[in-house]
Amino acid sequence: MLPYLRRVLRLSLVLVVLAVILPAGAGAAPRAAEPTVLYHETHVWQPQEQAPYYAALARFFVPAPPGYVDFSFGHCAMSAWGCMYWTQDHATVRLTAKGRTDPFIFAHEMGHVFDMYVLAPTHFRARFSALLGEKEWVTPHSEEYFADTYAFCALHRHLSGTWTTGYGLKLTPRLHDQSCRLIQAAYTAWQALEPRPYGQSGP
Ligand SMILES: [Zn+2]
Repeated sequence: MLPYLRRVLRLSLVLVVLAVILPAGAGAAPRAAEPTVLYHETHVWQPQEQAPYYAALARFFVPAPPGYVDFSFGHCAMSAWGCMYWTQDHATVRLTAKGRTDPFIFAHEMGHVFDMYVLAPTHFRARFSALLGEKEWVTPHSEEYFADTYAFCALHRHLSGTWTTGYGLKLTPRLHDQSCRLIQAAYTAWQALEPRPYGQSGP
């Protein structure tokens, strides 16, 4: 409990730094064949409420998660600024008051969603672990490493230096580029799946 709490707090501190130092990515993004659909089971979102998050997805330098996300503001366990829960066939993402305006937090949670919609069913989790030099995918360590990696790829086409995330992932510019290509390759593999396990139908 305590080590995890310390890790979350450490991540929060790092994310504060990242939010200040790293600007959000800009430019054209690949178009998703199955775009992310943000909805909320009990709340009818107004277009102006959704717009900033769809705009953020459109700026991603890697494909967005192809499917439904029950997305809203709310609480997360362990003082995390954002969280993702996978429930059978779609993701639930909550951003806290601290996390809702932070592009890295949003992109990190979308990384968790992308993992469930794309990486896991295409068996690219093993390739990601191999890319990091790890023997196998280990929960929850690997999920967090991937979500951090996805967030950097979503927000930055390239890195000019090495970054160490709050979860301890050391991302060199080379590893960043390799990871972003792996994410794109996984998405291409997902597009070829027939039938697609999730994402092609609503809740
Ligand atoms: Zn996470």
